[in-house]
Amino acid sequence: MNDLQKRSWAEISLPNLRHNYQQIRASLPEGCRFLGVVKADAYGHGALTVSRFLQEIGADYLAVSCLDEALELRRGGIHMPILILGHTPPEYTETLIENDITQTVSALAKAAQYSEAATALGKTLKIHIKLDTGMSRLGFLCAGNYFESGVSNLLRTLALPHLACEGIYTHFAVSDEPDPASEDYTRGQFKLFTDVIAAVEGKSGFRFSIRHCANSGAVVSYPEMALDMVRPGLLLYGYGDTSGKLDLRPCMRLVTTVSTIKIYEPGTYVSYGRRYVTEGKTRMGVLAIGYADGLPRLISNKCRFAVPGGFAAQRGTICMDMCMVDLTGLPQVDVGSEIELFGEENSLLQLSDAAQTIPYELLCAVSKRVPRVYIEIE
Ligand SMILES: *Cc1c(COP(=O)(O)O)cnc(C)c1O
Repeated sequence: MNDLQKRSWAEISLPNLRHNYQQIRASLPEGCRFLGVVKADAYGHGALTVSRFLQEIGADYLAVSCLDEALELRRGGIHMPILILGHTPPEYTETLIENDITQTVSALAKAAQYSEAATALGKTLKIHIKLDTGMSRLGFLCAGNYFESGVSNLLRTLALPHLACEGIYTHFAVSDEPDPASEDYTRGQFKLFTDVIAAVEGKSGFRFSIRHCANSGAVVSYPEMALDMVRPGLLLYGYGDTSGKLDLRPCMRLVTTVSTIKIYEPGTYVSYGRRYVTEGKTRMGVLAIGYADGLPRLISNKCRFAVPGGFAAQRGTICMDMCMVDLTGLPQVDVGSEIELFGEENSLLQLSDAAQTIPYELLCAVSKRVPRVYIEIE
């Protein structure tokens, strides 16, 4: 960060990341691998720094969304296995192989294209097969009437030349929702996943070395579904531990500073649209953060931030680069004071609820303009 500027920044705690990693690790069955999901710039925490750290502290695998994200890590010196969860066009098969990147294969037609490209190169592409057990997104269809055709398409995929199938996985739709219908749904997805594996292994004699399905919700609520590897994202960054079971710590702290403070008379309109009007005499601060930094405009007038000496209510429409807070009765706050938008003091959940969204979206929304400042391990 440019220290002279001191506008807004995101503090990322590597000690907290290590703590979360260790807490999750300790909850896993013996021998279970740990894949850290670092897609979307590690949920806004900085993919390269987070990945280097996970590599150093002993994670087994990383997952990203696309080839560009995988290449960023390889170029940055990450040598551990990397799985691409999304689609990569088969024309990039050579790039995948050259960079030793594992590609998800989610349909027979794609498997055939990868196989053809790899065969032409005389090389082998490492793959994980993805099953659609109820998320209805990527993956081989295998639910209900599709069971037999799903199994047969998997067998045909396994028989294709120049594809080395290391793993198989699926993704849960509601593993983080506690109601009984969601629990049934998750258990149904898991059963289908293991049934398809059993059918394919039974018919082929092939063994998938890494079977995985547990995202954050499942790591917390369905430890019996860990299988050979777990795949948490949100948990690693300190959120999604709905039952508090793992005692995690938030890794990101979004901070801004006070640009100016003014005293307004009662009846003064504040910000665009005049959506806030002061009731009494008001000491109002202007903060150097707005929706271009990732603060959703939807939370205008609906949230509070942690300030020295307490909490300050946000007032008026959030602008692109600034927003206002009521500092009446908070004399410790001065121009230049640091304000925590979210972190250990002001919960991200309070903001994501106000924004009618989930913590994931607000973490990913912290924009490029906000420098990431890492707190290192002592
Ligand atoms: C994003 C993602 C995850 C991680 O999800 P969390 O809820 O953050 O744990 C795991 N698996 C797949 C396939 C994903 O796309």
